Amino acid sequence: MRYQPFDIRLARLRESARRFGWNEVLLGNSAQGRPIVGFIQEGGGQRVLAWSLMHGNEPTGFEALVAFMRHTKFESSYLILPILNPDGAEAFTRHNGEGVDVNRDARAQESAEARALVLAAKRFRPDIALNLHDQRPRFYPESGTKPATFSLLAPKGHPEVPTPAQQDAQLRAQIILARWTQILFTSWEGGVARFDDQFYPTAFGEFFQEQGIATLTIETGISLGDWTRIAAASQLADLLTDLDTWKAETTMDPSPYLSLPMNASPANEWVIHHANGVLHLRQHEQVVAGVHTCHWMVDTWLDNHPTWIESRTTHAFGSPPIGEVFTTETLQAEGLVPDLGLKI
Ligand SMILES: [Zn+2]
Repeated sequence: MRYQPFDIRLARLRESARRFGWNEVLLGNSAQGRPIVGFIQEGGGQRVLAWSLMHGNEPTGFEALVAFMRHTKFESSYLILPILNPDGAEAFTRHNGEGVDVNRDARAQESAEARALVLAAKRFRPDIALNLHDQRPRFYPESGTKPATFSLLAPKGHPEVPTPAQQDAQLRAQIILARWTQILFTSWEGGVARFDDQFYPTAFGEFFQEQGIATLTIETGISLGDWTRIAAASQLADLLTDLDTWKAETTMDPSPYLSLPMNASPANEWVIHHANGVLHLRQHEQVVAGVHTCHWMVDTWLDNHPTWIESRTTHAFGSPPIGEVFTTETLQAEGLVPDLGLKI
């Protein structure tokens, strides 16, 4: 479900919590007065903190966490915050209700959402942190021909003065991601990439890794035939289930993760071929008055007109780009293109 109002999402969480024995804890309130809640499951074992909807228009991790909650037995302990950014989730926006990108607020902690996450980590003292996001459809594994359905990252801790604790945390995160890479390759080979671990000091991945918490950032994307990412959410829930009983040892080999192709962009989300040239479209989702819509927008406009590009530019990155795959869907444009004011 790409969009649901906050109240419905919260009701779904509470229903799962009630049925499957999770305890709710209030960690803060958003600027617009919505509760920022966590759900706790004390199963012993390793301690896992997970959050989703930090960016309110990235719901795949939420669906995975809801599915994961519905287990009857847990080996590990969990504190999950499936709607970390309630105002953003309600409006289906990346930022919170005050226009703050929560994932750039780890140090300043000006937002209620950042403070709630820091409080959760302080109280729960996790061994592992799972930072669940969605990425734009236009990402793909470098040199690949499919969308990146899963892009994985073990963020850096502080790059200049790394402590043994943070080096150990990053290695454990890489080892978990190496196992996830191998699991994903059974069904998603060609659709898995690694994010570069450029250092973003104000992001939560870096912030927690620096504290010695093994932190994994997962960016889920589309796959061909699954633009709503239902299959990706289901696979992500299976990965969380695997982690419940599997523990990383620092003697294990991180290389399956480290040798993944890097995440690259931009692929073409959709290409319309026409006698005038080629039109590149990208997916644009929004929620207006509670209604979720998905449009195709032209990538380049000149003087308020869509720009037709010479068709050779579709091969900008060598191997057949994703857009070439989507050209089979050109016929569907007949119903959509008039909305863009185009004539084809
Ligand atoms: Zn995000």
